[in-house]
Amino acid sequence: MSTPVVEVTNLEKHFSVRRGLMRREAVRVRAVDGVSFSIARGETLCLVGESGCGKSTVGKLVLRLIQPTGGAVRLEDIDVTHLGEDELRQHRRRMQMVFQDPYSSLNPKLIAETIVAEPIENFESLSASARKARVAGLLERVGLRADAMRRYPFEFSGGQRQRLAIARALAVNPSLVVADEPVSALDVSVQAQVLNLLMDLQEELKLAYLFISHDLGVVEHIGHRIAVMYLGRIVEIAGKEAIFNEPLHPYSQALITAAPVPDPRFKRERLLIEGDVPSPMNPPSGCHFHTRCPFAMPRCRGESPQLREVVPGHFVACHLREDGYRGPLPRPAG
Ligand code: SF4
Repeated sequence: MSTPVVEVTNLEKHFSVRRGLMRREAVRVRAVDGVSFSIARGETLCLVGESGCGKSTVGKLVLRLIQPTGGAVRLEDIDVTHLGEDELRQHRRRMQMVFQDPYSSLNPKLIAETIVAEPIENFESLSASARKARVAGLLERVGLRADAMRRYPFEFSGGQRQRLAIARALAVNPSLVVADEPVSALDVSVQAQVLNLLMDLQEELKLAYLFISHDLGVVEHIGHRIAVMYLGRIVEIAGKEAIFNEPLHPYSQALITAAPVPDPRFKRERLLIEGDVPSPMNPPSGCHFHTRCPFAMPRCRGESPQLREVVPGHFVACHLREDGYRGPLPRPAG
């Protein structure tokens, strides 16, 4: 098996909440708590979960935009977890990001040519004409006309701005792109065009994508594998078909069965969960999901379930699945 583009092992990010005159640590928030996954060339791993589950923090940790508290991030042959700024800079070109809001992620004072040329200037010494030709090629590749070069971000539509942001991300030939809700700010009619563009580019350039989204319809369109997060932990990770057709964790079941289906004749039996996501400042003991899980048992309050491979390639963190059981879950008596 080839080396993954990115391999994340037991990644942690803890934030201290300080209070009082002495600014002593009052609470330690485990925003990301032991997350592991890998992504192969040409593969899209989607991170899904409710707002505040830590998925965007994972994206920033992988790119080393913030420093992990623990764990490791390996980018192809290099462990980038503890690289200093100078060394990290050399590897930054291999990992790029596409943000949710293309307007605020693009400098409004720069024309498109300068925006896309900037990362090239940072990493390569090309002549002005070669750089211009590269930018023109990139703009054309993302579906923008050559005359887009002289335009400012405000002169583009939302979808065109996201195409421009994608061109900038690809300018330095990365192997990994982290896309954090890249289509959620776009009109539904434009979302599919941008998703299809990302998929075409992946096919052509064999890019690895870490795709962060709360929208299961989007994830079903673009993902190869899905990781479901809840309060800083991955509770289930598997291929897209397995997650959508046979989700095994109760939280994944609730998410999937709550998502609208395109064919109104097809109805899924819905698993209802109650209440809001608990605060990460004070997460429930044991299995973080036990306060909302309809199948919770006394054991779930005291013991955190490990992420185990229930069937090949399908990992679940639930006590009721640890012996490989894949059937319907029993509700506790009373
Ligand atoms: Fe529910 Fe217990 Fe499984 Fe957690 S470990 S998902 S609380 S049954």
